[in-house]
Amino acid sequence: MNEDEEEITVVDPVFAPWDGRRVPVTLLGGYLGAGKTTVINEMLARADRPIAVMVNDVGDINIDAKLIARQDGDTLDLSGGCVCCSLKNGFLEAFEQLRERPVPPELVVVELSGIANPSSAAGLSSTPGFSLDSVVVLVDLDQFLESEDESSVVADAVRAQVAAAHVLLLTKRDLVDEDRVDAVRSRLEELAPGVPVLLADSAHSIAGLVGLGVRRPVLQVGQGASLFDQFQTSIVPIDGAIRRDDLDALLDDLPKNTVRAKGIVQVETGELLLVQIVGNRRSVEPLPMAETTEPTDLVVITA
Ligand SMILES: [Zn+2]
Repeated sequence: MNEDEEEITVVDPVFAPWDGRRVPVTLLGGYLGAGKTTVINEMLARADRPIAVMVNDVGDINIDAKLIARQDGDTLDLSGGCVCCSLKNGFLEAFEQLRERPVPPELVVVELSGIANPSSAAGLSSTPGFSLDSVVVLVDLDQFLESEDESSVVADAVRAQVAAAHVLLLTKRDLVDEDRVDAVRSRLEELAPGVPVLLADSAHSIAGLVGLGVRRPVLQVGQGASLFDQFQTSIVPIDGAIRRDDLDALLDDLPKNTVRAKGIVQVETGELLLVQIVGNRRSVEPLPMAETTEPTDLVVITA
């Protein structure tokens, strides 16, 4: 073997499936009974493009996976450990299984176990072919304050979940009174200052918010007025290429109560940028060639 050939081996590129496309990954966390399965079923029911769901249950029998309505091979059952700690390898293998598919899903939703720490799972989700889109944590209004009084393991777990969230969604509104909603809100403000807290009284609206991880959000929003019944959705039109400075200024000027924004924007260099805002987190990054589509308007959801 001559030296040239050896050099080619050394610069072997990092494996990138689907020509470099990255599938957004949404982590759905929250303690037991917060309603994660219901939200996922609602998402699957309204999805018009392939969503892969990973369901993690620390027990040997994955009850939640059995409750996922559409078992068409797009549900990956991760049981017998927790993906943030004892089942890390299983988690990475599940991404590997998806990577072997000829056609990528549009979105991966991971239903985390009730005790999982989303931060640890988030670190594992940006793996070749995938990138973390958001961490959404459901908070059960009826049980959250009590769960903090359970064992220290449970209390630590629920606090870590809240602290890791980009957006917190309050569930089980129908089971509690106004005082309870206020009490939970104050506690969350202590645990996760500044993280948007949304009162979503239907799995319907939560599913819409979570599902925004899919590409071409404009199509998603157009599917029915009831989709975001808890939230205001507006479209910020962007005509043609924009200067990067102007884009940053535009994003700085979005309303303070913006919980989600997404769009594909062309800057004056011709480059397409994927703009994503989830809660307080903003990311503006080049779109890989394989993901390139037409620029879109900016979809902005406010609470
Ligand atoms: Zn874990």
